[in-house]
Amino acid sequence: MRKQGKHMQRLLRSVLALALALAMTTGAAAPVCAVTWADVNALKDEANSLDAEKAELQAQLDALADDKSQAVERKQLLDQQIANTEAQISNVQAQIDEYAALITQTEEELAEAEQQEEDQYELFCRRVRSMEKQDEVSYWAVLFRASSFTDLLGRLDAINEVMKYDQRVIDDLKALQAQIEEKKTTLETSKTESEAARSTLESKKSELNTQRNEANAIIRELTANESETEAVLADLEAEQDALWAEAQRLSDQLAAEQAAQGKPVQTNPGGYIWPVDSRYITSTVGGRASPGGIGSTNHKGTDIGRVGYTSSIYAAKSGTVIVSQYSSSYGNYVVISHGSGNTTLYAHMSSRKVEVGQYVSQGEVIGITGSTGNSTGPHLHFEVTENGVRVNPLNDGAEPKMGYLTGYTLSSSA
Ligand SMILES: [Zn+2]
Repeated sequence: MRKQGKHMQRLLRSVLALALALAMTTGAAAPVCAVTWADVNALKDEANSLDAEKAELQAQLDALADDKSQAVERKQLLDQQIANTEAQISNVQAQIDEYAALITQTEEELAEAEQQEEDQYELFCRRVRSMEKQDEVSYWAVLFRASSFTDLLGRLDAINEVMKYDQRVIDDLKALQAQIEEKKTTLETSKTESEAARSTLESKKSELNTQRNEANAIIRELTANESETEAVLADLEAEQDALWAEAQRLSDQLAAEQAAQGKPVQTNPGGYIWPVDSRYITSTVGGRASPGGIGSTNHKGTDIGRVGYTSSIYAAKSGTVIVSQYSSSYGNYVVISHGSGNTTLYAHMSSRKVEVGQYVSQGEVIGITGSTGNSTGPHLHFEVTENGVRVNPLNDGAEPKMGYLTGYTLSSSA
């Protein structure tokens, strides 16, 4: 914002200097034009010098827009990666849920098998007790009540048969339990693995989220920089507008002062006379192909040809010369102000015959035709503004306008 402050200071300085000069003008009766055209031009130069700063700011804005679109692209990529990771997480979560359900089911199977074993054992015990009660079987009875050795073996056989059967049942149940336990262990391992995978995905997602937040922060920062640069640019444009407005106001005031001295100024639009003796138009206001790749492709003026290098150029209207200088595009050129944003401009002159601040009557010679600046051959480039807007000075016949240029010939390429 330091830059803006500098601009405002400069603007204030310029306006104050001019206000002071004007106050001095008003105070002293003569000379009338203590505010000179040089002051007006200084203001205009200052306004023009801001163009470079504007271009620099625009370049900054373009660079910011590039950075921002890169950041937005990166953020979108991260969004995609996050969505993909979320899908993986929900897939792994579904697996975990499935394992958990299977584990619960296996635990039930195990409990059932354990219950069966217990029941079987209980059954076995009851049978042995009942056999004991009936005195049919007892280890003691077998050992001490056998009437003979054969009897003992018989009793042992009977007891063994029962025991063997029960033992088989119990062994089977134990094997089943072991199988179920193994299945449960496998499921638990899988579940643990899935949980580890989920935790890896969760941390990946959190990393991606961090990156996305960073990208968003960059986008916010770039947007803020953009707004700030745009604000500076807007201030600069406002400053430029103020300088132009002030220059215009002074220009009008000086024209009025000259009119008061008996130098008539035609402030009404129109009323132009031909600025050269030729009536041969090679280019009109508007679009045209750039001749030989040189010159503007959107033509802002009227080109009058067949003038050579020695023809006189006349003021199309009376007024005050506000520009008489050389530029790389216009070459030697002159601008006459007729007040109220009405100006005429004459470019590519071989020489200029008037100075800034000079009052010229309509038809007065202001320069000699030529081909200086951005020009491919001798011609007069003639521009007219009315209310500060470029207009076509030719009476094209569609709607006859009083005091516009008539009786011309258009070249086939115009
Ligand atoms: Zn031209």
